[in-house]
Amino acid sequence: MKYRFASTASAIALAGSLFCDAAQGADLIKVLLLDGQNNHNWKATTPVLVEALKSSKQFEVVVSTSPPNNGSKEDWDQWRPAFSKADVVLSNYNGKDWPQEVQKSFIDYVKSGGGLVIVHAADNSFGKWKEYNQMIGVGGWGGRKVGRDGPWVHVVDGKVVRDSESKVNGGAHGPRNPFLVEHIDTKHPITKGLPEKWLHQKDELYCRLCGPAENMEVQGTAPSPMTKRNEPMLMTIAYGDGRVFHTPMGHDVEAMRCRGFFTIIQRGTEWAATGEVKRTAKVPSDFPTADKISVVPAP
Ligand SMILES: [Zn+2]
Repeated sequence: MKYRFASTASAIALAGSLFCDAAQGADLIKVLLLDGQNNHNWKATTPVLVEALKSSKQFEVVVSTSPPNNGSKEDWDQWRPAFSKADVVLSNYNGKDWPQEVQKSFIDYVKSGGGLVIVHAADNSFGKWKEYNQMIGVGGWGGRKVGRDGPWVHVVDGKVVRDSESKVNGGAHGPRNPFLVEHIDTKHPITKGLPEKWLHQKDELYCRLCGPAENMEVQGTAPSPMTKRNEPMLMTIAYGDGRVFHTPMGHDVEAMRCRGFFTIIQRGTEWAATGEVKRTAKVPSDFPTADKISVVPAP
């Protein structure tokens, strides 16, 4: 099995368990991070996601790396992420369809109450996988079309609009720039207590994401220069008994090394795992303001 531990210092693989035992961290939230394929540099961004989580000292992270796109059948037959051992799965994966057995265990995991976090191009993946699209609410590219695959969800004057009429492909973005994130739901555990407007570090601002958008709520948006609408940046979705947190932010290392991004990844992951935000609720003193970005220094 191709499992890598995020930190050699604290990671000890015990027989039968990919996560550590009680002495090592029974009190930590167990995160299974998926990568291995992406049209983005996942080898560079996975360590930043791991850092964002582990720097809070509230998470234990195990990375499960899929075979490459041209991986052998044998490799794919061996790749069976242990979803049921995790409190929450974080996907940094955008690639080839998973084996049926993996798809089924993933659906069972989320449906029965597992947490899921979707970051950036993970919402490009699996355009034709019905259950995945229900989990992520909306997605882009991957053959997605507004209307046929569900509404383009955006926000106008603080109200969520579901546009099924526009004849456009799902998913677009302009050049990378810093942009203002605005929380339209300030009572949700993920946003509660944070500044309501903050400037996000230079990133792609995804727009025209579309999908089933069932049981989905939008907590935060950013104004798209392309669509002139407020596009969802923080979303939560209920799927079965599972909780999903989805952010289309996080194109690359530069975009991720934003204190705002670190904070919402911590809070979103805790919320997806537990339904509340307690351990990661403290607002960092260097949280970005409405007119000033805040870059997390390299470790
Ligand atoms: Zn991107």
